Amino acid sequence: MSQPVALVTGAASGIGQAVAVAYAKKGVRVVGGYLAADSHDPSQTQRLVEEAGGECLMVAMDVTNSASMDALAAAAVERFGRLDYAVANAGLLRKAPLLQMSDEQWNEMLNVDLTGVMRTFRSASRYIGEGGAMVAISSIAGGVYGWQDHSHYAAAKAGLPGLCRSLAVEFASKGIRCNTIIPGLIETPQSLDSKNSLGADGLAKAGKAIPLGRVGRASEVADLVCYLTGRESSYITGQSIIIDGGLTVRWPE
Ligand code: NAD
Repeated sequence: MSQPVALVTGAASGIGQAVAVAYAKKGVRVVGGYLAADSHDPSQTQRLVEEAGGECLMVAMDVTNSASMDALAAAAVERFGRLDYAVANAGLLRKAPLLQMSDEQWNEMLNVDLTGVMRTFRSASRYIGEGGAMVAISSIAGGVYGWQDHSHYAAAKAGLPGLCRSLAVEFASKGIRCNTIIPGLIETPQSLDSKNSLGADGLAKAGKAIPLGRVGRASEVADLVCYLTGRESSYITGQSIIIDGGLTVRWPE
């Protein structure tokens, strides 16, 4: 079999970039989608992948646009001749107390963080064959906990395990697996944003309450993505796996 090919959305930063690099180290070629309107520089991911000995094609796209999502999956097949894995990682985080939340804010969040994942899997599954796998990135906010002032984010993230369980059953006869990753606190541009998330100080404080004594690294989530798409997890499908340093199993003090 020629080297597998993975499609990763949100690949210009944070967890998505770490996934691209982790795949490169494992000989998996990457087609990374990035949102051109964001400040992240896609050439950084390209460089890191190449330094790790891998191959990467970065494509501007938007998970809220079905045609652009289809084009990303088609670009993977055009460039590398196949598509094996889809990692629906792109996500948006905004703070919005319910009484101040407009329909537009709610719809934008659901459009990116829930419907965007469906679009990613719909476009990619046109090409993925036997032995392939898909992974969605949820969150402990919604996946496990509630989060005040972030009900739209939590609702979108809570939808992902249901989406993945259903697709696991739907695609099982084709030999394609689908799982959800539920990260806890991971240091990335998203969590370092003090307006919409915890920010650096909040992360440092939260790290002390995590049993393993620190917040997580994007590379640790990336390793789990590689496991859940690789042969080592060939009998795991429809599952939601929490990666949080023990945060959600800690007895409250
Ligand atoms: P990040 O902000 O670095 O990454 C999110 C990426 O998604 C960015 O590159 C952004 O440009 C991209 N994106 C946003 N809207 C998009 C759109 N419409 N189309 C295409 N791309 C779009 O932060 P991250 O922490 O690496 O986030 C990756 C995923 O992990 C997200 O789904 C996030 O919700 C989830 N997550 C993060 C944490 C954490 O603590 N960092 C915890 C739980 C879940």
